[in-house]
Amino acid sequence: MPETRNSAAKAYWGKILHVDLITGTISPELLDDSFCRKYLGGIGIAAKVLWDRLKPGIDPLGPENILGFTTGLLTDTGSLFTGRFTVVGKSPASDGWGDANCGGYFSPALKRCGVDAVFFHGKSPKLVYLYLDHEKAELKDASDLRGLDSIQTEDLLRERHGKRAQVACIGPSGEKLSLLAGISTDRGRLAARGGLGAVMGSKNLKAVVAAGKMRVSVQDKAAVKKLTRAFRKKLARGKFIERFLGDRSFALFGKFLGFGCIYPRLPAFFWRLLLRKFGTSSATALFAEGGDSPIKNWAGVGCKDFPLKKSQKISAETVIRFEEKKYGCYSCPIRCGGIVSIKEGPSSIKEMHKPEYETLCAFGSLLLNDDIYSIFRINDLVNRAGMDSISCGASVAFAIECYESGILSKEDTGGLDLRWGNSEAISGLVEKIVGREGLGDILADGVKHAAERIGRGSEKFAVHCGGVEAPMQDPRYDPGVIISYFCEPTPARHTISSYLWLDLQEIHKKFSRASKMPLFVSRKGRYNNEGKGEILALGSLYKMLIDCTGACLFGTEVGGEIPLCEWMNAATGWNLTNDEYLVIAERVHKLRHSFNVREGLNPIRDFRPHPRLYGDPPQEKGPSRNVTIDIDTLAESYYRAMHWDRESGKPERERLEELGLHDVSREFYSCEEPS
Ligand code: SF4
Repeated sequence: MPETRNSAAKAYWGKILHVDLITGTISPELLDDSFCRKYLGGIGIAAKVLWDRLKPGIDPLGPENILGFTTGLLTDTGSLFTGRFTVVGKSPASDGWGDANCGGYFSPALKRCGVDAVFFHGKSPKLVYLYLDHEKAELKDASDLRGLDSIQTEDLLRERHGKRAQVACIGPSGEKLSLLAGISTDRGRLAARGGLGAVMGSKNLKAVVAAGKMRVSVQDKAAVKKLTRAFRKKLARGKFIERFLGDRSFALFGKFLGFGCIYPRLPAFFWRLLLRKFGTSSATALFAEGGDSPIKNWAGVGCKDFPLKKSQKISAETVIRFEEKKYGCYSCPIRCGGIVSIKEGPSSIKEMHKPEYETLCAFGSLLLNDDIYSIFRINDLVNRAGMDSISCGASVAFAIECYESGILSKEDTGGLDLRWGNSEAISGLVEKIVGREGLGDILADGVKHAAERIGRGSEKFAVHCGGVEAPMQDPRYDPGVIISYFCEPTPARHTISSYLWLDLQEIHKKFSRASKMPLFVSRKGRYNNEGKGEILALGSLYKMLIDCTGACLFGTEVGGEIPLCEWMNAATGWNLTNDEYLVIAERVHKLRHSFNVREGLNPIRDFRPHPRLYGDPPQEKGPSRNVTIDIDTLAESYYRAMHWDRESGKPERERLEELGLHDVSREFYSCEEPS
């Protein structure tokens, strides 16, 4: 590989690769230090590349789209929780900005190849994969990988290129251009949302194999180490309490959260213990009881339609009964992942990742399915297919409601008796979606497209925001999350911000503009929109910062004050304040949002959520009874805090200039008189 920057130690290489899939040419681009300081790393670099190089209006599945794999600024620097990679491109699901990220070990392996990111252009004439290490990068024939699932693909490529090789690949869903397709790594973990696996498939790119062994250097190694040691020590506190945690105690806590007058700050340490002991499955019964899980395609109530005796069957304690070993992502001391196996019976599975909360909910409470074996089977099926489990579960929920209300017949379903909770029919339908057979072919592009094809009033059961299926956090319980669902550049995203997340992150201690923010201590306060747009905007920008570093969201919630900015200063030598980092995050966020506006999208109008998500009509029973969220007022205050125009979505010219985004300002305002 040609010379790499980073002669001075500074956490990043200052180098990206552009791979032209039409000609097979691979060209490096060196980034100067001011560029890296302006956009940080990972997704920040990608936002600039896509803004500069993608023409508006292109077909996301056409050769003009660009697909990027990015590492984080802090990846492989000795900091904690910073092993996530982000995939970017124009999303075929939302027709706007697309990104999705995933943990595991791929990101550090890519960074060890001496690059910060790789971008794919055009479409290869035949199926290929990219192999790269610290010395070379080359496209290789992948015709023998065609049709292999994500685990088979990874196993074969690691056999070929050695154990150090880390693989990001698509399964059959990506090859079949399903808009539910994600990109898999670590044998079935997915950068799932927004259909970027279909973009990879459309480029005839089966995999990226990274096998580098070059460590990036940092400015002040001792300071990074000191911060890491102190944070690790903090995270180790209170471990002995883990033994008292179980489904029943969670559920009681969930009831307390849902019905009580008090909305207490969930102590970060409690969340930390849950994650460490059970992983995200710990939330299943808790959220179903408390009101944070969607039930029966968002029309049901947890404690009535899917009570504790059912939710417990698919929750934490049940799941870890099958756990063989625990694992964590690169540089993570929490290790929330686990490998499970089912030893006997028709559902036997040798090994797979234990299902996450989103999967347990999407194929459990959302469908009134309490059969854990069916959820395990489906989990294995969608992971191998390389398919987003949230969108797939939501598509099944849509189909069940269509069937139950007579819009779909048994003939339409290919003989499946598609009723709520019928685990056999649910598994059968997932197989059809993965194989794109019959009704499954229609559902494989998500509920919006399916409703358009089925018609007959089915759109009222298609729960999505801007073409992306809603995830498994209920805004009627935590209204903060609705902003992440429809005002963010990536619609229907549960991993941006919510009142609960902001509390766990102790955001008020981090940034000067947060110190006067309202707290969410009472039920009344939760549903009062005053001042909330400002704090939710801050939450979005903080998440932007987290993504630029390559950090895991959970890492920012389990120990209060994660020293992200301190790590960046120590690793790069920049010496910026938290508020200055927030300005950089805003620049990157503005670029992603501007990408959508240039595509003709205004989130408040085009990503508007399904009415069930904000309580229209309100539920009559349960923790969110009588709740209707005034999403317009909330979104308008968020827009004001973000300096966006309500009608056009455009960011204000002055703010763009202040952020140094002069080209974006010219794009939107060149025909107007100077203000
Ligand atoms: S908390 Fe879980 S998802 Fe996050 S880095 Fe650790 S193991 Fe990965």
